[in-house]
Amino acid sequence: MEKGSLLYEGKAKKVYATDDPELLIVSYKDDATAFNGLKRGTIEGKGVINNRMSNVLMRWLEKEGIPTHFVKELGDRDTLVKKVQIVPLEVIVRNVAAGSFAKRYGVEEGIAFESPTVEFSYKNDALGDPLLNEYHALVLGLASREEIDLIKALSFRINDLLKAFWRERGVTLADFKLEFGRLPDNSVVLADEISPDTCRLWDSETGKKLDKDRFRRDLGGVEEAYREIMGRLEQQETGLK
Ligand code: ADP
Ligand code: UDP
Repeated sequence: MEKGSLLYEGKAKKVYATDDPELLIVSYKDDATAFNGLKRGTIEGKGVINNRMSNVLMRWLEKEGIPTHFVKELGDRDTLVKKVQIVPLEVIVRNVAAGSFAKRYGVEEGIAFESPTVEFSYKNDALGDPLLNEYHALVLGLASREEIDLIKALSFRINDLLKAFWRERGVTLADFKLEFGRLPDNSVVLADEISPDTCRLWDSETGKKLDKDRFRRDLGGVEEAYREIMGRLEQQETGLK
């Protein structure tokens, strides 16, 4: 499958058409942004790592019964996916207080929750991805009641699976962001990516951050952290393929 015309260039990926109107090629870049594009930089090798990690995780989630957009890895940075109409919600699942949650509610980062939380942001760069509730999403026509209920159920199931996956590799999954999309038959599938750009991944022993927070917060060792978390993933990857 060959890349056709460039349909969209985002902050972290390029999206290309293919010969098949139902398929797209996503191409992962090394570009990194934070704070709604205010902070920009490059994380050498990130595109290769995020492509690989996202594909390993999506393939595994499929095996565990989660429908995803994943079709086939085409190269180091390129993956064939099912074209979806993105539901314009960023779905954030949290197991531990961190980031905007810790800041907004004035709690210490690192406090583990008894049960996970879910929240939605309106995926809209111009508005700065504002937080919104289910009623807001409904009246704005972003998703139907049935879709919202399904998206929540899938997100909690994905959380259970990913938490266990990372626990086995000595990593705490603090929080992460998911995006869902609609296929032509209106069924909902997991789309976009699951990577250190979209998850908070902490070493379970030391608490060391192995994700994009190293870039956001200028903690140094950004490339090393991406390589380290990829190493953890590959450590036990045999059997996942
Ligand atoms: P952003 O748009 O936030 O800058 P990216 O650089 O990651 O993000 O761009 C990828 C874009 O492709 C995102 O807008 C994402 O919602 C969209 N996308 C992800 N998976 C699919 C898919 N299977 N079909 C259509 N669009 C997708
Ligand atoms: N996240 C993301 N894209 C966004 C916002 C958040 O992938 O546009 C991820 C982020 O990596 C973290 C989780 O969602 O794993 C929760 O992020 P939070 O709301 O704490 O926001 P942040 O601190 O990144 O502003």
